[in-house]
Amino acid sequence: MQAFDPAQTGPGCGLIQAVGAIAAGDNRFCDSDSGRSITLKPNVTKASSIVWFRLDLRLADNPALQTAVAHGGPVVPVFIYAPGEEAPWEPGAASRWWLHQSLASFQARLRAAGSRLIIRLGPSLGTLKDLLKETGANSVFWNHCYEPAVIARDAKVKEALRAEGFQAESFNAGLLHEPWTIKNQSGKPFQVFTPFWRNCLARPGPGTPVPAPRKLTAPQSSVKSLPLDALELLPRINWAGGLRAAWTPGEVGAAENLGQFLAKAFDAYGVQRNRPDLLGTSRLSPHLHFGELSPRQVWHGLARFASKRELSSTQWRSSQFLTELGWREFAHHLLFHFPHTPNEPLRADFKKFPWRKDPSSLRAWQRGCTGYPIVDAGMRELWSTGWMHNRVRMIVASFLIKDLLLAWTEGARWFWDTLVDADLAQNTLGWQWTAGCGGDASPFFRVFNPVSQGQKFDPLGNYVRRWCPELSELPDKWIHQPWAAPSPVKYPPPIVSHVVAREVALEAFARIKSVPL
Ligand SMILES: Cc1cc2nc3c(=O)[nH]c(=O)nc-3n(C[C@H](O)[C@H](O)[C@H](O)COP(=O)(O)OP(=O)(O)OC[C@H]3O[C@@H](n4cnc5c(N)ncnc54)[C@H](O)[C@@H]3O)c2cc1C
Repeated sequence: MQAFDPAQTGPGCGLIQAVGAIAAGDNRFCDSDSGRSITLKPNVTKASSIVWFRLDLRLADNPALQTAVAHGGPVVPVFIYAPGEEAPWEPGAASRWWLHQSLASFQARLRAAGSRLIIRLGPSLGTLKDLLKETGANSVFWNHCYEPAVIARDAKVKEALRAEGFQAESFNAGLLHEPWTIKNQSGKPFQVFTPFWRNCLARPGPGTPVPAPRKLTAPQSSVKSLPLDALELLPRINWAGGLRAAWTPGEVGAAENLGQFLAKAFDAYGVQRNRPDLLGTSRLSPHLHFGELSPRQVWHGLARFASKRELSSTQWRSSQFLTELGWREFAHHLLFHFPHTPNEPLRADFKKFPWRKDPSSLRAWQRGCTGYPIVDAGMRELWSTGWMHNRVRMIVASFLIKDLLLAWTEGARWFWDTLVDADLAQNTLGWQWTAGCGGDASPFFRVFNPVSQGQKFDPLGNYVRRWCPELSELPDKWIHQPWAAPSPVKYPPPIVSHVVAREVALEAFARIKSVPL
C-alpha cells in the first residue's frame, strides 16, 4: 500500500474539516492522506490515542495532535528515535544537536499543558505496537514527512497497524499544499518554479492554524519513557558552543523569530536578503525544518501583519519573502516526485560529468581555508553556528562545484552533517540548482566569481572580518582579494585560480553536452 495515493485524494479533505466535524458532534472525517472518509468509533470508552511526533515538534497548528484531542481520551505524545529508518540520510551531527534542544523544549511545552513526552528508541512499528498494548490506545495519528525512506516506512507502519484493526491516520502539517495535489496542465509535476508557485497562489490559501491545546490528559504513569539523554544526540566532544549562542530551538523561539523578523526585517527583505553582513532574513529555516513552526503559521502571521500595515493581499502574496517559502514548497514537490534526486542529478546528462576526486581541496573547502575570503567566511560561519546565509551558500556551492570541480553530492553531504536546518528537499534543490542539474536550475555556465560576489554582497567586508578575524585589519579594497594587497597578509593563498578554474569547468561542461546520452 502506498502512503500517498494521489488518485484517492479528494478535495475538501483535511484537518480543519475533521476537527470541525468532530466538534460539531459528527464523527466522520476525511483522511488528508488517502481522501477516505473515516468514521471514528463513538467515543464511549475514551480510549487513549497516540500522537507520533516527528518533524512537527509543536503544539499549535498540529493536525495529528488536534485529531487526537478531538478523539476524546488521553493523548499519548510519543517521539521514537530510529535514525536507521531514514538511511542513507540519517540526521547529521548539527541536526542531532538541534533535535535534542527541540525535544527538551517540547517536553517543557507538554509539561506545561499537563502532559509528558514518551521517548523511545526504534524500530518505529514495533515501538508503536508496544505502546498501543501498554496504553490500551486504539489509534495512532501523525503528520507527513516527505523523505523517500520515511514515506516508505510510514506506509508500512500504516498498513500494519490498520491490518491489526487500529486506526492509523496521517495529515499535512509541514507544507502549504501536498505535493501530489499540484500538477501542470498535462497532469505532470512542475519542474519550473514560476508556474508552480503561480499555481499554488491561485488556490485557496491554507486553513487557519489551530491554537495549541491548553490542557492535555497525560498518559498513565505506568507508560515509561527514556530520558532524553538516552538518545545520545549531543556531541561527545563539546563543539556546540557556537550553536548554543546562535539559536533558541523550540516552538516559543520560533514564534519569537517570526515576530521579530516581521517587525524588523520584512520591509527591507527584498533589498537586504542578499546581504550576509546584515540581519536581513528570517533565520526560520531550522524552526521550519523541525516543525516548530508551520508554513501555515508563517502565511497567516504574514497576512495578519500585512493587514495591520494596510498592505493589500496582492502585495504580501507577491512579496519576496512568501516567494522564498514557495521555493521551500517547490523543493518538497521535486523531492516527492523525483525521489532519486538526493543522490542523482534530475537532468540525466549530468550523470556523465567528469567530477574530480581531490580530498585535500575538499578539506580546504570544508575548513574554510580556500584563500577566497567570502568562501572561507561562509564555511566558518557554517562550522560555528550550523547555518549559512543563502547568498553565501550559493557562492560556496558554486566554488566547490565549478572552481574545484568536485561533485555536488560531496558538498550536499557536508552541509547535511553541519547545517542545523539540513533538509533533504531544500538541500538537494540548493545543490542541484547551483550545479545546473536540477529543476529550474541556474545554468552551469553561470560561474560565481568569489571576489566580485564578495564585493557586491559584503561591500564593507564586515561579514568576512567577522568570520576571518585574521583579515580584520585589511582595508576594504583588499578584503575580498588579500593576495593582491600591497603588503603581505597572513592568509592562505587561493587554492585555485578562479580564472583558470572557470575555463576548465566550462570545457568539462561542453564535453558532457557533446557526448550523447
Ligand atoms: C547549496 C544550498 C543548500 C541549501 N540547503 C538547505 C537546507 O538544507 N535546508 C534549508 O532549509 N534550506 C537550504 N537552502 C536554502 C536557503 O539557503 C535557506 O533556506 C535559507 O538560507 C534559510 O535562511 P532563512 O530562514 O533566513 O531564509 P529566509 O530568506 O528568511 O526565507 C524564509 C524561508 O524560506 C525558505 N527558503 C528560503 N530560501 C530558500 C531556497 N533558496 N530554497 C528553498 N527554500 C528556501 C526557508 O525555509 C526559509 O526559512 C540551501 C540553499 C543552497 C544554495
